[in-house]
Amino acid sequence: MQYYSTNKSVPEVSLKLAVTKGLADDKGLFMPERINQLPASFFETIEQLSFQEISFEVAKAFFGEDIPEADLKALVFDTLQFDCPIVPVHDNIYSLELFHGPTLAFKDVGGRFMARLLGYFLKGNKEHVNVLVATSGDTGSAVANGFLGVPGIDVYVLYPKGLVSEIQEKQFTTLGQNITSLEIDGTFDDCQRLVKSAFMDETLKSKLTLTSANSINVARFLPQAFYYFNAYARLKEKGLQDELVVAVPSGNFGNLTAGLFAQKMGLPIKRFIAANNENDIVYQYLQTGEYKPRPSVATIANAMDVGDPSNFARILDLFDNSHEAICSVMKGFRYSDAEIREVLLKVYTEKNYLLDPHGACAYKALAKDLGEGEVGVFLETAHPAKFTETVEQIIGKGNVPLPEKLAEFMKGEKLSVELSTSFDDFQKFLLETAK
Ligand SMILES: *Cc1c(COP(=O)(O)O)cnc(C)c1O
Repeated sequence: MQYYSTNKSVPEVSLKLAVTKGLADDKGLFMPERINQLPASFFETIEQLSFQEISFEVAKAFFGEDIPEADLKALVFDTLQFDCPIVPVHDNIYSLELFHGPTLAFKDVGGRFMARLLGYFLKGNKEHVNVLVATSGDTGSAVANGFLGVPGIDVYVLYPKGLVSEIQEKQFTTLGQNITSLEIDGTFDDCQRLVKSAFMDETLKSKLTLTSANSINVARFLPQAFYYFNAYARLKEKGLQDELVVAVPSGNFGNLTAGLFAQKMGLPIKRFIAANNENDIVYQYLQTGEYKPRPSVATIANAMDVGDPSNFARILDLFDNSHEAICSVMKGFRYSDAEIREVLLKVYTEKNYLLDPHGACAYKALAKDLGEGEVGVFLETAHPAKFTETVEQIIGKGNVPLPEKLAEFMKGEKLSVELSTSFDDFQKFLLETAK
């Protein structure tokens, strides 16, 4: 399968190149040349398959032309060593819990899959790849844990000093081996700027192979489609699969775009709900037809604090830039911090289910918009304990148990290198240390 750029001014590339480059040379995002349909027979018996088995069938539709079946199966089963259960919250609303992976957030699937796919492409040859990733918290941990110990690949995680929670920081700074954490004396925007500058820098490009592990990378975002197929299968087990509405808490829109791919592959999702926090650029687009990026503002659902969602270019491409077509498959909602706090507390006290601030946005939109006869699933994208401070402020101290996996990370020793926000310092560091 070939991959084209959403900007369409460079030739198509192979899967391997799309993954090792991250972004196309014309700065567009890579898209698969075709979206293969899954056969009706697959959907007829899907409820008999496990999350892992379903995902393998979906992965074959994406990557089956490029990777032999047995290798792809190993890749998928090795990535998904955890489940993705559906939990009833009330009436016809279900939570699809995407946080049972090693770092307790949905990005684990993409992070692990990308690491294994890149490892597969590099196996047995002398190529060496350096993965650069800027993080405000969750991406860094998922990517670092996914790539830990993968031969031929080193990962550099750039994060803003003092601006990530202690739990988040421990999840990537304590790993060692092929993971280097760079504590940047600035903001998340500075980290992102340093990474972007590195990809443009001729000196670095001539000496090192650099790629990105943000959701612009096809290997990170396409596997997120697995979740949607599993949601359908688990509801079909209960006979509830018709009129399915899926609500997605969205920032860079990688997760929601993967859902749109699933729908185009034949998965019967009736419609999507895109839930934003105050960074409501896509919400505004859905209302007005105008896409106006603007600087992000900080909210308590911080993984969604994005002012120019990178995967929006993919959504436009999927629907030929038609505002009408996009509005026919999704509806937008946006919530303030006060509204997020309110719904989180309400669902905890009345329904005995603990949301995280991101899932809370999606839940609230679904509860508001779900119609007669529809069944709603919202994606619960992170375990609430990843945001203990915020969540305990809302529901009271001591009420968020720390899962074993997070407690383990807290015991580790932080091993970061401090750097300024100057590109010269970053360039010098990479030239001296990277292979
Ligand atoms: C990354 C993230 C999101 C947003 O996902 P996108 O694919 O960027 O839209 C939502 N919730 C959590 C917990 C996240 O880590």
